[in-house]
Amino acid sequence: MRQPVSTISPELLQEWVCSAGEPDYRSQQILQWIHQSRAKGWVEMSNIPSKIQERLILEFTFSTLILQRKQGNAGMTQKFLWRLKDDQFVESVLIPASTSLYGETSDRFTLCVSTQVGCAYGCKFCASGLNGFKRNLEPAEIVDQVLSVERMQRGEGDRVITNLVIMGMGEPLANYTNLMHALNILNAKWSANIGARKITISTSGLAPQIRKLAKEPQQYRLAISLHGATDRVREQIMPINKKHPLSQLINAVEEYQSLKNGMVTLEYILIADLNDSPEQALALANIAERLRAKVNLIPYNEVDEFKWKRPTQTAQDAFIQNLEKFGAPTTLRREKGHDIDAACGQLRLRNEKELDAQRV
Ligand code: SAH
Ligand code: SF4
Repeated sequence: MRQPVSTISPELLQEWVCSAGEPDYRSQQILQWIHQSRAKGWVEMSNIPSKIQERLILEFTFSTLILQRKQGNAGMTQKFLWRLKDDQFVESVLIPASTSLYGETSDRFTLCVSTQVGCAYGCKFCASGLNGFKRNLEPAEIVDQVLSVERMQRGEGDRVITNLVIMGMGEPLANYTNLMHALNILNAKWSANIGARKITISTSGLAPQIRKLAKEPQQYRLAISLHGATDRVREQIMPINKKHPLSQLINAVEEYQSLKNGMVTLEYILIADLNDSPEQALALANIAERLRAKVNLIPYNEVDEFKWKRPTQTAQDAFIQNLEKFGAPTTLRREKGHDIDAACGQLRLRNEKELDAQRV
């Protein structure tokens, strides 16, 4: 079976090149084409002899992803829906570092990456979990999200993705080994060279895996999807809270924090009449203080299948004021891509509904 070229290590590629009777430097040329020059296909590799290109085609797949759909325009938030080899779909979102209302373009981008097809954790606000869990993404399917988007941006000049957020579809820490494999590649100088401090891993709260991540040598940033500051509120929307209640989660994050100083963000989706009360603001501020974490508020992006509503602007402002009164450093993430189904899993869900409609 052919293996993906994007995850072969320099050492193994070198062995392969030698066994093909080619000089050592060929492996560096191939890596350069795949990871740095952003070649769009084998035939673009102009310094690789055609007989080697033919062998490469026989033994390696160039990409594990096919672009099914793209939404958004250059310079703004763009969303990519990828078709995988088994006709499953995942999505990535490219977010400019500064999108202004006047549409100024930015040369720095964050890519939001998926790690699983579907999600087993079934949070009751999230489109990714609606149809359950299908499978883990392979390391190459994670790496190729970055490489494919870079290839599509090639006309813009230098590489554009400077930061990664592992916040797309799926629970990253439930696909731990494949994620670490992919991030080690994306981190490497010969690949995308994205520093660990520029990579944020978001988790719904898998306490044992957070402890494991704390022992990795890399200093990844950690984001915790909190969304409820007491067990009573959190367990209404996040079933994982029954397995790992807040006390356990907080202990694991404290352990992470003590080893990776200053790297934790608490993500908190504001949902009307569920988690936007002054009591929740106080409890949230207490957790943030204990973990020396900053709070990132996200106004809930409504999903048809769920009953929740986004709080009014006044209610959002009141929650922020309360948090600030209680001393928690807070940012509010205004949805940049409200119009393009920016919340996690929504584009895939829409695509599946459309495919179902075509089948009827
Ligand atoms: N499984 C991981 C990472 C993917 S989900 C986790 O739960 O952290 C990551 C984020 O998607 C959530 O924390 C939330 O910030 C965002 N999200 C999902 N559904 C959303 C919705 N309906 N509105 C706003 N944000 C949403
Ligand atoms: Fe899964 Fe994260 Fe969505 Fe929860 S919020 S269902 S853990 S992807």
